[in-house]
Amino acid sequence: MRDFSKSIAAYKEAKPLMPGGVNSPVRSFPSVDLDPIYMDHGKGSKVYDLDGNEYIDYVLSWGPLILGHADEKVVEFIKKTAEKGTSFGSPHVLETKLAQLVIERVPSIEKIRMVNSGTEATMSAIRLARGYTGRDKILKFEGSYHGSADSLLIKAGSGVATLGLPDSPGVPAELAKDTLTVPYNDADSVAEVFKQVGHDIACVIVEPVAGNMGVVPPIPGFLESLRKITKEYGALLIFDEVMTGFRVGYHCAQGYYNVTPDLTTLGKVIGGGLPVGAYGGKNEIMSQVAPEGPVYQAGTLSGNPLAMAAGYMTLSQLTPKDYVAFRVKADRLAEGYKEAAERYGIPLAVNQAGAMMGFFFTDQKVINYKRSKSSNLDHFKKYFAAMIEQGISLPPSQFEGLFLSTKHSMEDIEKTIHAAENAFRKIAE
Ligand code: PLP
Repeated sequence: MRDFSKSIAAYKEAKPLMPGGVNSPVRSFPSVDLDPIYMDHGKGSKVYDLDGNEYIDYVLSWGPLILGHADEKVVEFIKKTAEKGTSFGSPHVLETKLAQLVIERVPSIEKIRMVNSGTEATMSAIRLARGYTGRDKILKFEGSYHGSADSLLIKAGSGVATLGLPDSPGVPAELAKDTLTVPYNDADSVAEVFKQVGHDIACVIVEPVAGNMGVVPPIPGFLESLRKITKEYGALLIFDEVMTGFRVGYHCAQGYYNVTPDLTTLGKVIGGGLPVGAYGGKNEIMSQVAPEGPVYQAGTLSGNPLAMAAGYMTLSQLTPKDYVAFRVKADRLAEGYKEAAERYGIPLAVNQAGAMMGFFFTDQKVINYKRSKSSNLDHFKKYFAAMIEQGISLPPSQFEGLFLSTKHSMEDIEKTIHAAENAFRKIAE
């Protein structure tokens, strides 16, 4: 048995000081009946906790660390940048360098605004869509998570799903009524809503691969149908690529699926492990943002030099070949898990998209939140505990995805499959 005594002591000290002892709910391991593990350091595909236990890491800080932990070039560039000063509140050239890289690679983005988190990106993109169209209603999908801004916390996934919370208290009913929700991958329901109130809808916001109900890729034609109907009704299509951006493909999910939205939100990978978000799109729409236009949005630390340095050095090291390698690793992981689950008679659905993967303890094909919720959460708890014990760090919830980095080796993948096989045997006992 692994020793977690230092993590347990650290949590005891933190618990009275912060809600749940943490600064983001899922970190407290609310759905796996364990105390959270305190990480001390990471290198490549591995993280090490306070007690010195080693893990192959599939959390990767919830997605940003596509080059793995403490990538040498990223760390070096952050250090070099910090030596010149950590923030100026004036423009600086690293903002332009990161903007150029993103605009070059993301088909929909002609102009971009950097912010500090994914939540800020989606919140600002929604305001822009409302300002641009002069309409108030927005359409999102059940079980999708777009950050913790008021308008977007309706029928949300991620931690909201993990905790099984109802729509959050504190969100004004007046605002909530303008957020319409339908099941993911259900073009008919979208069409029905547009038929009823389509001319009042400012935008459809969608994760082009849903990653906050576990990983759920779009079924063929779904994203295309959103593109078509939004155009027809003069609403904007927003791809929330905070999770999928530079993770599903070199040109993000929009390049991979060849559907171009009007606006895109980014976060996670573009910050290389530091706090960054961004929203961008067609020049005509983005020029509505202050100071060019009347839609106000600002930030003291937006475009922070250290964050821009980490993002720039991360994106500039990624190549199209990396996404081929992700596919090979993800395919092997999927195949290994399926074989192991079959061997022990454990129902398991596997979804994958680029460097994102989702495993669900269900015999249903998972195409939406309802199907994701059919997963056996008791199996998940046992699986999670068994994997931790064998040195595999996973997101502590059935409703979160696994992430791969360029540093995960085939040896890591084989070790993970072996650990999963042991976990499935335990579940079957
Ligand atoms: N949008 C998506 C698709 C996300 O997955 C997340 C976070 O997980 C967010 C927005 C919010 O980003 P942040 O946590 O940086 O505020």
